[in-house]
Amino acid sequence: MSNQPSNSRPLAVQGRHTEFAGDTKFRFLCHEKLTCFNRCCRDINIFLSPYDVLRMSRKLGLDTGDFLQRYTTRLQLRGQRFPLVIIKMREDAGLACPFVTERGCSIYDERPWSCRMAPVEIRGENRYGFAFDSDHCHGLLEDREWTVGEWMRNQRNDNYGELERGFDKIPQLINFTGMLALDEHIRETFYMTCYDLDKFRRYVFEGSFLTAFGVDGDTARKIKNDDLALLQFGFRWLARDFDLRKSMEIRDEVLGS
Ligand code: SF4
Ligand code: SF4
Repeated sequence: MSNQPSNSRPLAVQGRHTEFAGDTKFRFLCHEKLTCFNRCCRDINIFLSPYDVLRMSRKLGLDTGDFLQRYTTRLQLRGQRFPLVIIKMREDAGLACPFVTERGCSIYDERPWSCRMAPVEIRGENRYGFAFDSDHCHGLLEDREWTVGEWMRNQRNDNYGELERGFDKIPQLINFTGMLALDEHIRETFYMTCYDLDKFRRYVFEGSFLTAFGVDGDTARKIKNDDLALLQFGFRWLARDFDLRKSMEIRDEVLGS
């Protein structure tokens, strides 16, 4: 339970130091008349979830591998067991996001989860804060009031938990071997399954995967053409059925070693 303000009165001061509980009202409205419009779409780390990558690549009509290569950077942070994915800011354009235009976000309907949450950021169990100060983000000086739940529903951000169910548990369920090449294969398999869905589809359907992992016909039919079903299948496979030896054999068979 948060020890931060939790009541029906809106926050008096809003900035990066403010912390609040989910049922506290905060004030915010973002619109193109603000002088800060688009300012937050540059020089920032936008982490992408698997569902973000899927939505954005489909919006752009790209294979997930092409999307990842063109628009993202893969990060392997110290202390993180598995890679993370962020949007690659444009070095040729003052570190602007590749999707920002004068009129706003060019992929607005499919923009990532963290862009939908902004300026709110999650800081713990029922603990929230702001990513910006109000002198940078003038939307924090507007009068429209929201709770976090209202904001997430308004931004259509409240279904990620269900759609990506199980994804956050995967890192705790897979053991590393301590051997460099094997552990690299485990990381590659995680990255492919969670982010590079079109490559994962080839991995599942172009070799002995279905037989090796006993995938039934109904499931195979479902995941063959349904991206979201395949993504969710991949989470379950990594969490429950991942097998190092079999996965290496299929990699060699389908993708080459
Ligand atoms: S994806 Fe869209 S909303 Fe997010 S930083 Fe880029 S331009 Fe801005
Ligand atoms: S800085 Fe804040 S108000 Fe300005 S465009 Fe970004 S999110 Fe909207």
